[in-house]
Amino acid sequence: MKILIVGGVAGGASTAARLRRLDEKNEIIMFERGEEISYANCGIPYYLGDVITDRTQLTIVSKEGFNKQFNVDVRIKSEVISIDRKNKKVKIKDTSNNNTYEESYDKLVLSPGGTPIRPQLQGINDSRIFTIRTLSDMDLVKKFIKEKNPKKVAIIGAGFIGLEMAENMHRLGLMVSIVELADQVLNVLDAEMAALIHDHLKVKNIELVLNNAVTEFKPAAGGGLKLLLKDGYEIDADFVILSIGVRPETALAKEAGLEIGSLGGIKVTPELKTSDPDIFALGDVIETRDSVCDCASLVPLANAANKQGRIVADNICGGKATYDGTPGTAIAKVFDMAAAITGSSEKLLKKRKLPYSKCYLTPSSHAGYYPDAFPIYMKFLYNPADGRVLGAQIVGPEGVDKRIDVLSTMVQLHRTVYELAKLELAYAPPFSSAKDPVNLAAMIAINQIQGRNPSVSFEDVEALKKENALFIDVRSGLEFELGHIAGSVNIPLPEIRKRLSEIPKDRKLVLVCNQGKTAYFAQSILKNSGYDKVFDLSGGFKLYKVATAPQQNVGIFQSHYIDKRDDIQTVIPGRGKIYQLDAGGLQCPGPIMALAKKINEISDGDVVEVIATDPGFRNDIPSWCATTGNKLLQVEERDKKIVAKVQKGKREEKSFNGEIPHDKTLVVFSGELDKVLASFVIANGAASMGRKVTMFFTFWGLNALKKKTSPKVKKGFFDFMFGIMLPRGSWRLKLSQMQMFGIGPKLIRFIMKRKNIDSLEAMIFAAKAAGVRIIACQMSMDMMGIKKEELMEGIEIGGVAVYLNSAESSDTNLFIS
Ligand code: FAD
Repeated sequence: MKILIVGGVAGGASTAARLRRLDEKNEIIMFERGEEISYANCGIPYYLGDVITDRTQLTIVSKEGFNKQFNVDVRIKSEVISIDRKNKKVKIKDTSNNNTYEESYDKLVLSPGGTPIRPQLQGINDSRIFTIRTLSDMDLVKKFIKEKNPKKVAIIGAGFIGLEMAENMHRLGLMVSIVELADQVLNVLDAEMAALIHDHLKVKNIELVLNNAVTEFKPAAGGGLKLLLKDGYEIDADFVILSIGVRPETALAKEAGLEIGSLGGIKVTPELKTSDPDIFALGDVIETRDSVCDCASLVPLANAANKQGRIVADNICGGKATYDGTPGTAIAKVFDMAAAITGSSEKLLKKRKLPYSKCYLTPSSHAGYYPDAFPIYMKFLYNPADGRVLGAQIVGPEGVDKRIDVLSTMVQLHRTVYELAKLELAYAPPFSSAKDPVNLAAMIAINQIQGRNPSVSFEDVEALKKENALFIDVRSGLEFELGHIAGSVNIPLPEIRKRLSEIPKDRKLVLVCNQGKTAYFAQSILKNSGYDKVFDLSGGFKLYKVATAPQQNVGIFQSHYIDKRDDIQTVIPGRGKIYQLDAGGLQCPGPIMALAKKINEISDGDVVEVIATDPGFRNDIPSWCATTGNKLLQVEERDKKIVAKVQKGKREEKSFNGEIPHDKTLVVFSGELDKVLASFVIANGAASMGRKVTMFFTFWGLNALKKKTSPKVKKGFFDFMFGIMLPRGSWRLKLSQMQMFGIGPKLIRFIMKRKNIDSLEAMIFAAKAAGVRIIACQMSMDMMGIKKEELMEGIEIGGVAVYLNSAESSDTNLFIS
């Protein structure tokens, strides 16, 4: 039998090798368009980041080596350009001399992979815009970095490869900006799980621009590239990596009349036969079935391609092997975290209208008492009717891979939570806990199914508040002080039995702790005390905080950005002893509590160097120091751990009882460029210090919020006349002084650019991204005939009550006129 294979990497090479192992006599020819075969494209990001330093590590086997080992005729620089199905022949172009020739076949295997998507944007053909698929693509990037010594890269697309590239470019010391069309990275995950990765990327100083898209690339003044984004934001970069996904390379198949599936991949049977029984296809080019939803699925992953190679070879040699669908199991390293998924996400289950329930948990990677236990964040999805495991997502620094693999097995084998709860998995303190996290997930699910643990999650909070539900935070007073859901009351778990009289029976109760476990204990107490509307907040305050925080950090490489770490004191301890405290393995607030205890034992001016493994400690420690009067001298990451130095100080006495408000409100009455600029400088500064900022634009201030080009809106005569007299948007604002016959505003913009100060437009963009509420005054809009459509995206329209409401929780209220 003569077998031809198109494509010589993951799918092609594994098919060829298995074919030979099954039969010595078949003639096998493998055509590869590129210069190398069977290489490890999954290793490309790590070679570019100098983690793998020897290029030959990626080239698993040479053409000659493959031929020697498997007696396969390997032809590189050979592109198959057409298929003649009737006469069972293919035409090949030798790309070294452009000659063409034909080869006949008995069986043909297509494994041409997927092509990186390159959108047709203005400027896309610039030689500094790269895609990453083959080793030749990799070589081009490596050469560029070596020769041009770039300082800044923009990565378009935040899928697994985009994030791997971000990490590796950051490793080389480059400033990295990521632009992603969706409002989250790793779109296969649900948003709240991706939020955990956003949090981590921000800590690593990666600029994250979400919900946005590049519309044009153009040369920048300093010699680099300027990326223009959909909503006006601009990014300067020395080069760009496009990683917005791959499209199945189906041109050959389409031209040969093979059937293409609904998602654009070659349609195949479970035996991996195409619509022509003598042609098989596999890898990134095919469309398979999703093993949970039984819908069409494209999963461009090496693990599937390699296994499919074996199936194709077996079937060509007379076997009856099948590919039974994909659970879409995937994992990526994102700096110190791993992010993994198996089965269906919640959004996919919703889209498919499949019944599901979910729970969140944050177990430790191994026994908390054994050194270096890290928290892992898990989301678990199951069918409440029959208990079938539908999917899981895990984010964490350690132990993610083995948990996702167990869960992937359950998903693929269609097993249930009842079976998962009983699984006996390897345990000793350095590796796991007696109840492994996957057992715990199943046990929580069973509790939910049996009605023992009714729960709500972060996205229900606002609706529950409207229903007048009472949020009871059952954590300690210290934890509550470090952050809580607005409006909640604090009744720590140990006090709950004594304080039942304070808890109403006629309201829905939502119990909140850090992860859901303490709340579950409190829930049992309340249920056994006659309360029947008691829910726990699944995932706890930790997940709520991350999921509801601003997800982007637009503008971190620009001059207006005030680093969040400005709450760190620069004082060097003048006196006192230095103590070490190992809080590894403790989950927040464990490290804080251990630190508080240590601080109590030492004298003023002494310093504690504390090491924690819970990433949440990084965010908690500045707030704790600020509230307690201790000085935070340093926070850094070492080997996935957070190391902080804290000097004992004294808490400043508050002058009154009750909370000091920290929010800021600004009323922007003026439409003059300098005054609007000053407003945004203050707003962005306050936002970057974690304050809630509300800007209320009224009268002339509204002009700053108008779009550059006017959309068509219906207006009455007076509104129209008034409108044409007003400046259109921030670009046209005048100065309060030094008009200089109209050149003043241009001059000031020129000076700002020279001094690397952000433009007003960039500041507005950054403010929106940082969660600053920008409110246009409804009454002034009505008076001035300004319509909603004329204002930039993301502006709220509100009355004075909205402003006054924000002002009540502010300690600073500025009127810019
Ligand atoms: P490929 O391996 O892409 O091979 C297709 C080959 O066919 C190409 O070399 C191409 O030149 C050749 N070809 C195409 N058309 C023709 C033609 N007409 N004639 C001759 N030759 C042709 N997957 C994971 O599971 N985990 C990872 O960590 C991971 N990381 C990745 C990182 C990067 C940077 C990249 C690019 C991919 C990564 N993948 C990963 C995906 C994985 O590499 C692919 O899913 C897998 O290689 C697909 O195998 P394939 O045989 O379908 O296609």
